Amino acid sequence: MGWNRKVLRVNLTAGTCTPELLNMEWANDYLGSRGLASKYLISEIDPKVDPLAPENKMIMATGPLTGTMASTGGRYTVVTKGALTNAIACSNSGGFFGAELKFAGWDMIIFEGKSPKPVYLALENDKAELRDAAHLWGKTCWETEETIKRLHQDPLTRVCSIGGAGENGVLYAGIINDLHRAAGRSGVGTVMGSKNLKAVAIRGTKGVSGIKDFPAFLAATTAAKKVLADNAVTGQGLPTYGTQVLMNVINEMGALPTRNHRDVQFEDAGKISAEAMHEKRPTDGKAHLVTNAACFGCTIACGRISKMDETHFSVKNSPKYWGASGGLEYEAAWALGCANGVGDLEALQYANMLCNEHGMDPISFGATVGAAMELFELGILTKEQIGLEAPFGSAEALCKLTEMTATGQGFGKDLGLGSARMCAKYGRPDLSMSVKNQEFPAYDGRSIQGIGLGYATSNRGACHLRGYTVASEVLGIPVKTDPLATEGKPELLKAFQDATGIFDSAGICVFTSFAWTLADVQPQIQAACEGDWSMEKLNLVGERIWNMERQFNLAAGLTAKDDDLPPRLKTEACKTGPGKGVVSGLDKMKPEYYQVRGWTPEGIPAAATLERLGL
Ligand code: SF4
Repeated sequence: MGWNRKVLRVNLTAGTCTPELLNMEWANDYLGSRGLASKYLISEIDPKVDPLAPENKMIMATGPLTGTMASTGGRYTVVTKGALTNAIACSNSGGFFGAELKFAGWDMIIFEGKSPKPVYLALENDKAELRDAAHLWGKTCWETEETIKRLHQDPLTRVCSIGGAGENGVLYAGIINDLHRAAGRSGVGTVMGSKNLKAVAIRGTKGVSGIKDFPAFLAATTAAKKVLADNAVTGQGLPTYGTQVLMNVINEMGALPTRNHRDVQFEDAGKISAEAMHEKRPTDGKAHLVTNAACFGCTIACGRISKMDETHFSVKNSPKYWGASGGLEYEAAWALGCANGVGDLEALQYANMLCNEHGMDPISFGATVGAAMELFELGILTKEQIGLEAPFGSAEALCKLTEMTATGQGFGKDLGLGSARMCAKYGRPDLSMSVKNQEFPAYDGRSIQGIGLGYATSNRGACHLRGYTVASEVLGIPVKTDPLATEGKPELLKAFQDATGIFDSAGICVFTSFAWTLADVQPQIQAACEGDWSMEKLNLVGERIWNMERQFNLAAGLTAKDDDLPPRLKTEACKTGPGKGVVSGLDKMKPEYYQVRGWTPEGIPAAATLERLGL
């Protein structure tokens, strides 16, 4: 079996930690991690609950492949009702924290209630206790991790924590583990902060036992690793260039949203690209990139470790930022750079480090700055209101606004609302490039039609990781489709969405899907887990997870109206690139998508669909 069969329930109100047996019937129906934790959450909370109320719960969960020798098997998820989105939230992180949770003998931790004072959970194998965190409150994620490791006198303790963003109610606060890995999206860190939970520190020495058929598992994981190694993207592109390899590619095809989606190509993309990170700087003769890095058990190693130019204006008086640190990844580089028209690589790295240090989602933060810069250029926001000049392209403004948001100062409080609430506050809700209050990631939904449909229908708000049709529409994986065509995209998106549910729920990284299909994952799950995990079953479970999440959102009050894109994408055509003159075909694709899903025209899963899925 790939599960430890153990759940830790932490009641923060009462200050208790209680072990429970994992519901194996649910594990058989929802696999693990995203699917299984969502099943627990949905069974235990009122969908209409205020995300920041004690009645909301937050679950940290592993999958059956987490902590095993499956490549990338280090993932864990945080499942809750999202502070930013008011929808189901599931944020996924790599690093080493997830594997450590498994090594300590647990499948998941359910946090409920609210602690009367700041605490952190100390978990060492079977021993779990809540400890006072008054001395940690106010510290950054980096300081918190360092302090806990010193206190525990164990550098191998794995820590996840919130920083000032989560403490101060920034609505897109994330949870940082291993210094620069993040469960970043939808405000899961904000929920953690609302519970007065500062950190979780884990030391596990039990390893992973109970793989059902070890010889078969060894054979399946070895074969699957070879597929990753032999693939041009996972074997060469990602280790060499990281996800940033996409910057020039997406710019070329006119799908790189720029200046709050006013443009689809960025004239300075080359300056902030993966290639630029390899080049020697004229100032100090050193390359920005130091090395690549891998999360637990990963044979791809897409992570970037970089060092800033010590003479850059943002850090010249702050030596603490001169060391090697995580980033830049593609999404952060896009949101902090292209979305704001900022082509200063060092400024992006500084802003990215602050996001990691203080626990903020760089995608939502960067895109919110982009919306603020547009409001400034339109004269709706003034220098006096913001506290500085904030035109598109200003690296100085980006750096200052990051500091202000991370520490809750001045206009940073407005930026901490996210773009939807901020733009509504200043009378231009149409300028928020978001769905369900969550900001778009780094692909334009006009020049890549399938991803636009994906943003609109994603259960956790705009997201590329819920159905990455870019793989097919741009990279030809597993088959090439025309990015500008709308035909066939509902079927394509459904297939990606359902399959992603399995990757996430297994505890592996979705980047494997550049090379793996479900057929590569299936033998690994089947060998690890008891029961039937055939392709038919996996396809059914993936679809079941998607529909379960949908039902939660509908019960929370969301409707088909929330499956929409901002007017800009539907009325303002791409100005340049291969998609010049094109707008999103969402209004055509959405009804077809509902049909393909077996939903009513109102976007509600039909009775027959629910019955087929056992919901
Ligand atoms: S592919 Fe990248 S993000 Fe995914 S597990 Fe490996 S190093 Fe981590």
